[in-house]
Amino acid sequence: MRVLVTGGAGYIGSVCTELLCDRGHEVIVYDSLWQGHRSAVDPRARFIQGRPFEPGNIATMMAEVRPEAVLHFAGDILVGESMQNPGKYFRNNVACSLEFLEAARAQNVRKFIFSSTAATYGHPEQVPITEDAPQRPVNPYGEAKLMFERILTWYHRIHGLEFVAFRYFNAAGATERHGEDHRPETHLIPNVLKVALGQKPHVEIYGTDYPTPDGTCIRDYIHVVDLVEAHILALQPGICGFYNLGNGGGYSVREVIAACERVTGRRIPAVEKPRRPGDPPRLVASAARAMRELGWKPRWPALEDIVATAWAWHQKYPDGYPD
Ligand code: UDP
Repeated sequence: MRVLVTGGAGYIGSVCTELLCDRGHEVIVYDSLWQGHRSAVDPRARFIQGRPFEPGNIATMMAEVRPEAVLHFAGDILVGESMQNPGKYFRNNVACSLEFLEAARAQNVRKFIFSSTAATYGHPEQVPITEDAPQRPVNPYGEAKLMFERILTWYHRIHGLEFVAFRYFNAAGATERHGEDHRPETHLIPNVLKVALGQKPHVEIYGTDYPTPDGTCIRDYIHVVDLVEAHILALQPGICGFYNLGNGGGYSVREVIAACERVTGRRIPAVEKPRRPGDPPRLVASAARAMRELGWKPRWPALEDIVATAWAWHQKYPDGYPD
């Protein structure tokens, strides 16, 4: 299949490109490189450096590439930043995504796959969270992702466009070649591993007074390869709708740090800090729908296995990608 991967120089997009190329798909990566790394783009893919805000640019690119499917990973991802600068999130994650969607529709693209988020659920009333739980985002990041989910629904109803929106829980881990390199890095596991590497003196724990057994937030960590596999399954014709992607198990911040200590064999000092605004205490997925309808089954559900792959990557690339 000829597939356009937006954000293919980013963390999840680069892993997806790698796996699609492994399976013989023709991949075109479109990435602005505002956040992504040129060297993260699999050399088997064609690379187009995007300038999404030049008028007509996305439509022209789409008409030239004529993909059968679009996997739209490009977007901004920081909850905290979205609370400071909401306009950036509505512009990049809604307006810009709409440009891709409209261009895809104009080219009769068969399938549009979108990276949504557990942040669309806000503070969930119940865990594990199922796809029909109320969606009441508590930050502009989650709100923007939800807005685009709704746009996809209308494009399906009016234009018949087949879409899949995956609500990601906490992606982590790496392949041999592709791992997590955000600058600045805000995510828990890479930050803990930077301490293990000696690049930081300690990890900060954001909040120890949550209503959880050890007082720290609980999250559902999913191996990036398992996450990407669901996208590849979703390319099958007839798959359309919303799917959670997680393992259905939750680990607290302290449990993550302990798992990293076991995997690395190094002591990881932690400093307790106040809560980070906008963090729900517990986010755990029910991914039963993805398992049932996509035939998806995570291969690395255990946290230590996920951390071990991230650790291997960080040891190999202690400074991340060269660019
Ligand atoms: N967290 C932390 N210290 C860090 C980074 C994150 O205590 O240096 C906490 C954060 O407050 C959240 C959990 O770890 O409860 C996972 O955060 P992350 O940013 O990795 O993902 P999120 O759940 O926000 O998408």
